[in-house]
Formats: sequence, structure tokens, C-alpha cells
Amino acid sequence: MAERHIVIVGGGFSGTALAIHLARSGHAGLKVTVIEPREQLGRGVAYGTRDPSHRINVPAERMHLSAAEEGDFDRWFRASPACQIDAEARWHDGKLYPQRAQFGAYLNELYRLAAASSAVKLHHVRDRAVALENGAVITASGQGYRADDVVLAISHPPPALPSLLKHLTHSRALVANPWRVDALAGVVPTDRVAIIGSGLTMSDVVASLHRQGHRGEITAFSRRGQLPRPNLSGQFAPRALDYSRPQAATVRGWLRRVRDEIKAAAALNLPWQLVLDDIRSNGQRLWQQFSLKEQQRFLRHLRPWWDVHRYRIAPQVSAVLEQLQDDGRLTVKAARLVKAEDNQGRITLTLQPRGATPESLTVDKIIVTTGPAHGALLSSDALLSQLATQGAIQADPLALGIWVNAQSQTLNIHGNANPHLYVVGPAARGRFGELMGLPQVAEHAETLARSLLDTASFPQAGRCPASLKTL
Ligand SMILES: Cc1cc2nc3c(=O)[nH]c(=O)nc-3n(C[C@H](O)[C@H](O)[C@H](O)COP(=O)(O)OP(=O)(O)OC[C@H]3O[C@@H](n4cnc5c(N)ncnc54)[C@H](O)[C@@H]3O)c2cc1C
Repeated sequence: MAERHIVIVGGGFSGTALAIHLARSGHAGLKVTVIEPREQLGRGVAYGTRDPSHRINVPAERMHLSAAEEGDFDRWFRASPACQIDAEARWHDGKLYPQRAQFGAYLNELYRLAAASSAVKLHHVRDRAVALENGAVITASGQGYRADDVVLAISHPPPALPSLLKHLTHSRALVANPWRVDALAGVVPTDRVAIIGSGLTMSDVVASLHRQGHRGEITAFSRRGQLPRPNLSGQFAPRALDYSRPQAATVRGWLRRVRDEIKAAAALNLPWQLVLDDIRSNGQRLWQQFSLKEQQRFLRHLRPWWDVHRYRIAPQVSAVLEQLQDDGRLTVKAARLVKAEDNQGRITLTLQPRGATPESLTVDKIIVTTGPAHGALLSSDALLSQLATQGAIQADPLALGIWVNAQSQTLNIHGNANPHLYVVGPAARGRFGELMGLPQVAEHAETLARSLLDTASFPQAGRCPASLKTL
């Protein structure tokens, strides 16, 4: 029997979750190849870190591969030796915030279990995909993998270097990619450090510096100087908003509604987090009801506000930030970078604080934590560049990732769907909106697995579809 072959490019959370769902629900005659250069699947940018101070940013009970498995990671971690060793993982309210590497280990174990017990053939090819030619995915080592379907699972390029820092590329004082292994190894404990960005990556970097005994002053700055909010402590029943009420078609209308909902919750002594959590879990539906203009308006005006409330941090990390701020070792400023000059190996920054006169800051290191450069995703990777140059794929109109239709099929520059070239995970956010946190990405992978397995258009499995061949 001819084998149907699905090739997944990228084995971070999204690609690995898709492979597991395909293995669990697929049948003999299906082969799934995950092309991923990292040694283990399931790690990716988020869970590939080995730094013990990097923790998952929601309680373990909320990290799962499908809604049916709610609580599974929490149970797995509680039963693991790592839970006994890492006493800090348990917060005062009893919730667990394990190190992110633990979630990677959990996912890798699920993958290995699926590979061992499924009739579907699962393979991890340790390589990097660099092109798609005549229906075959070509890797950096020159191998070709003929595919019936290709799924792109590449989400997080490294942060972009701000243009004002480009001339410092060769300076040892610049840490341009904080995700590189040992990126902070060159920071000595007494260094005066500036961090550009004040979100989740900044929080990771400060937690890492704290763990490595940093004593020097740290200044983090971003235009609004807003820090991610901590997660909710304690047990609360979820709060469901009434979506049957007539709903605003504008982001301004929704902002009003959210404020009203938060006030109503506060009147019952309930925290705002419950309102945002409910909106987040209904986010994909709400997002797709907005016109493109309203989506653009959201990104322009509300995104920074949404991001700091929606992307929260583990309470352990929040406590470190608070302690360092109280000790005067960490300052968070609302300021814009206007100049950066090399100053005999150090860097002198000119910052423009909001509504105040410019100030100068000389530091030993500057670390870029502006987050993944999603707007540059298509040029960040050889395969995506090739496909974009050919017009086979395009960036979404909001520059959040790759433009897809409701079935997650990529759209070419003419807006036509490539029926056998898909995207899984956050790179499809332009279409789906809320597609970053684990529950939503897991659901996306599960839905795509189902639709790939349901595809009735495969009478010729094993013979590469013409539409892929012509890409
Ligand atoms: C730092 C960070 C921390 C996060 N923490 C949490 C959290 O605590 N809780 C939560 O719910 N969500 C969290 N998230 C969000 C969420 O879990 C991630 O968005 C999710 O893991 C996305 O994974 P991915 O596989 O789509 O992408 P990525 O992590 O970007 O993985 C893509 C993989 O593709 C590989 N790759 C890239 N190009 C190629 C190529 N050409 N060929 C082959 N392979 C390639 C890369 O090596 C990488 O392993 C976090 C996100 C980040 C960035």
C-alpha cells in the first residue's frame, strides 16, 4: 500500500503536538516526519531553555496537549523526581510553576510514547529544512523528503536588533539574542546592565542574572515601561462572560465592555484576571469577528495593554523583580532609546523618558529583549524566504506571521490556498488571533491533525500532489 507522508517542519511545541495527535488518531499507511535540528522534539524556543530560573508562566494544571488531558502535566510533574528537587516550583497557594525545561521533557516523553505505540510511523530527522522543491522538503544536509502534505511549525525568530544598535553588532557589550545558550555568560556580577524591553523575555533575563549572583544595577526600559502582571494566587471558579449579549463590533466597544466586566467582577471581590482569562479562551472567535481595520486598531492602541495583562509571569519570577526593585538594583523606565554610542568598550545610551528631558546612561552590557521578531518571520528562515520569494506564501496583513485560511492552509500572493501546505501554531495568529498560550496552540494542533486525517482528497497517497510539486 502506498504510504501517505506528512512532513512537519519544526519540532517545537506546535510541530510535536501535531505529530502526537496524528500518531494518536492516525492509522497504518501514514508516515509523519518531523524535521527539527534540536536534539529533542517538544522543546522549541520556549521549552528548550535549561535555565532553572525560567519557569512556565501559568500553573502546571493549565498546560496540556488537549482539553481531554487537563491536569496531566501537573500530575506528571508531581510524580517526577524533579518536583522533589525543585521545592521552589510550589507556590504558597499550592500551585506548581515548574521550570520550562520540565514541560519540554514531558512533551518529549509523550512523543516517544506515541511513536512506540502507534500504527503511524513517526520519525524525527535532525536537520534544518531549507527549501521545498518538486514536492520534496530539502534539508541543509542535502536530503530530500517527498511529502503529500507539508506543515510549517516555525514560530519564534530571535528578537530584531533595534536600528539604533546596529552599529554595535560587534561590540562585546551587546547581547543581541538573549535566547542563545550562554548568552549571559559574559555578564559579570558587578556589570551595570541596560535591558531594552520590559516584557516576558526581560523577566527571564533578570531572573537569570539574579540566579547567577548579579549585583550590578539593572535598568530595563520600554516605551510604556509596563511590566507583565503576576498570575492569580489562590483558587477561583472561572468567570464566564455572557457572549449571547449584543456584542460590540469595534475594539473601543470591547474595551468598554471589558472595563465594565472587570468592575462587575471587582464588586463581587473577584480579580480582573478571571475576566481576561475568559476573553482569552474565547479570543479566536472574538478576533475573527473584527474587521481588518479593527484588528489593526487593536494592535496599534491596545496591544501593549493587552500583552502585559494577558502574558503573565510566574509568581517566583514576579517576586524576584519586586525584590530587586525594592532593593534599588532594578529600575524600570518608560523611555525611548534615542542614541547609543560605543564608549571604550562600554555603551552610553541616551534615553528619552516620557514627558521628561533626555538622560544619559553608561552601561557595561545592553541586552535586547524586545521579543520574537514575528514581523520578520518570512525573512528569518531559508525555507520561508524561498516560499515567500516564489509567492507561494505571504505574510499576513497584520505582520504577525504567515497568512492562512480558516483551515490553516497557506495563501499564496494571489490569495489562493495551497491545499497541501499548512501552518500550525502561533505563526497563524494573523487569522486566528489568540494563538500563543499552550491551550490554544494545543487545540490548533489537534484540530489540524483531525482535518489532515479527514482529508478525503488523498486517493493517490505516496504520489506527491501536483499543487505541492509546482511550489
Ligand atoms: C520564551 C517563551 C516562553 C513561553 N512560555 C510559555 C508558558 O510558560 N506557558 C504558555 O502557555 N505559553 C508559553 N509560551 C508560548 C508558547 O508555548 C509558544 O508559543 C509555543 O511553544 C510555540 O512553539 P512553536 O513550536 O510553534 O515554535 P518555536 O518554539 O519557535 O519552535 C519552532 C521550532 O522549529 C525549529 N525550526 C525553525 N526553523 C526550522 C527549519 N527551517 N527547519 C526545521 N526546523 C526549524 C526550531 O529549531 C524550533 O525548535 C512561551 C513562548 C516563548 C517564546
